[in-house]
Amino acid sequence: MAREVVLLPGDGIGPEVCAAARRAVDATGVGVRWVLFEAGVESAARQGSTLPDDAVNAVRQAGAALKGPMGALAGGATPPTVELRRRLDLHAAVRPVLSLPGVATRYEDVDLVFVRDTSEGQYTGLEHRVTPGMAQSIKVTTDLASMRLARFAFSLARSQGRRRVTVAHKAALLKLTDGLFLECVRHVARSFPELLLEEMDADTLCLQLVRDPTRHDVILAQNLHGRMLAHLGAGLVGGAGVVPGANVGDGCAVFEPLHGTAPDLAGRGVANPTAMMRCAVLLLRHLGERDAAEKLDTALLSVLRAGRVRTPDVGGHATTQEFTDAVVAVIGAG
Ligand code: ATP
Repeated sequence: MAREVVLLPGDGIGPEVCAAARRAVDATGVGVRWVLFEAGVESAARQGSTLPDDAVNAVRQAGAALKGPMGALAGGATPPTVELRRRLDLHAAVRPVLSLPGVATRYEDVDLVFVRDTSEGQYTGLEHRVTPGMAQSIKVTTDLASMRLARFAFSLARSQGRRRVTVAHKAALLKLTDGLFLECVRHVARSFPELLLEEMDADTLCLQLVRDPTRHDVILAQNLHGRMLAHLGAGLVGGAGVVPGANVGDGCAVFEPLHGTAPDLAGRGVANPTAMMRCAVLLLRHLGERDAAEKLDTALLSVLRAGRVRTPDVGGHATTQEFTDAVVAVIGAG
């Protein structure tokens, strides 16, 4: 029986790269039934909301979604991407950063997984103006969220046969918040004796990643540090257009690329659908559809390796459609 998966194309280049990923998934012949919902800034006027309840409920019910990037309304309203994570309690963001064949970069063997919290830290939206000329934001760290995230990261490292978890922090300065986070990570690490825990200042880690990313493995951080580190990681392997992501909670996972709406490319048909296709690979693995996942992954990597068809962001001239045609052709020939 076909598994239901919610499709949220989103804003900007979202609909273009989602259509490409959907075509590639369908070409594998896997039994996926897409349930399409409009959400995001561009559909807000039509829908009366950037994130309609129907869409959230559908994701909750299906337990899995493929989501394009969504923008944010001016005026401080919570961005729909953040709201979706909150409403579904998708507390962990995973960003696998992997060197890809045919994508020329400074390093060849990068294989990192960034895991960050998305439920608290600096992104709580707790900001206020104290007096004119002075504003304040509140960073929140709880032991419950920190333990939950650390358990998630260590379990992921164990399930993928990885060896090391590096926790990024600033506990020397932020003694209470980052200090508590670090304490929780140390506590959880004791239950995973086969994994090496490395503690590192977030700034030192940035420097090390740029100098030699191959010495790291799983990188665990709170919200803001984690987001910045993952973007740094994306820069090491070819940019925003090639890194996928998963936002995971209990019983629900939403797969979305690291990149945003890329307004400079929207509607031009030249966005790189690699990140979104790699999201689809993660989605298929999550659904237990290993054959379809490997078919899509192998086809994508072989098109990238051949290098004849590539989008402008990775040095080519192909359109999104031409790249997708090439991937679909390889799947069909397999
Ligand atoms: P947002 O505000 O939604 O995060 P943004 O433009 O600030 O959008 P990104 O969308 O992540 O941030 O993109 C930054 C730049 O990276 C884009 O302007 C674009 O040039 C490039 N980029 C992002 N995604 C892709 C992609 N899939 N293919 C090609 N280039 C991309």
